[in-house]
Amino acid sequence: MSNHKYYGRGSIEMLCKELQEGEHVLLFATLNMLERFPSVENALHPHVNVRLYPHIEPNPRYEGVMNACGELEGHGYDHIIAWGGGSVIDFAKAFRYYGKRSAPLIAIPTTAGTGSEATQFAVIYKDGVKQSIDEPSLLPECVILDSQFCENAPRHLKACCAMDAYCQAIESYWARRATQESRDYSLKALNLCRECLVQAVNSNDPDANEKMLTAAHLAGMAINISRTTAAHALSYKITSDYGISHGHAVALCMTNLFPMNLCCLDDPGPLLTALGVASDGFPEHFRQLLQQIGLETNLQSLGITSATAIVDAVNLQRLANNPRPLSRTDLLRILDV
Ligand SMILES: [Zn+2]
Repeated sequence: MSNHKYYGRGSIEMLCKELQEGEHVLLFATLNMLERFPSVENALHPHVNVRLYPHIEPNPRYEGVMNACGELEGHGYDHIIAWGGGSVIDFAKAFRYYGKRSAPLIAIPTTAGTGSEATQFAVIYKDGVKQSIDEPSLLPECVILDSQFCENAPRHLKACCAMDAYCQAIESYWARRATQESRDYSLKALNLCRECLVQAVNSNDPDANEKMLTAAHLAGMAINISRTTAAHALSYKITSDYGISHGHAVALCMTNLFPMNLCCLDDPGPLLTALGVASDGFPEHFRQLLQQIGLETNLQSLGITSATAIVDAVNLQRLANNPRPLSRTDLLRILDV
């Protein structure tokens, strides 16, 4: 659990409460965000010494983290700030881990998606292969959930991020490692998604975007306990081979997985209520949801014409956390191409 959390639009102002006058701060952020919100850097500059590190790519690579470790070696920092989407926050976590840095991490997410600010894991690509670091020390000490940064993001980015949060909450609910606590978080996340997801993606409405950021954070708290399951396990190859965004790739695996997993749940009622669907209504409901937020639902239309390579590359550790065992035939049926 993070030590400090600040919620609400405009809560970036609370950042100064975490920092002492004159201290040295390392800021991980992209130039694009700094251009869009110069107020953040301006707010820091008179009070603290800021070292900006902007060289962060989407889906960060191990080599990139190592470059940062080399470039910043010999400099001490009192705080590390990660202000950005999941890639920026994961990059900062990996930097702290590989660079053996103990300075507290302040995570300020700018997308409502991965919930990386609430988890103790980071995804890094080494030689093209996805690696997950999973260590309690990776959890940020402070989180600022200021939805103003999410509001004007491109619609496709918002849609993919929202689907990541939504599917993470569903997968967390039925995960083998789920607990009462993680299920509470996941149901709260799904209740919020039911209210706000479509509006948050399709508009800049401040209230909907604030709720969606909270939902993504709760889904992050849920998977921090339970981890994810088969939809995530199958998705990684879809992202790496077809360039389909993580959240979209996960969603493509969810439609047919849901009815398979639902059958084996002792008490599916709370999940169905939170989603707002009848027991056999999910696939159609979910397809409509994806269409409403502008995401393609057909794998063939996205260029995926064979599921064999995807199934062969399935992440077995995530698959083992699925509530029921899935055969190779089941996995091929989930993708249905
Ligand atoms: Zn995810």
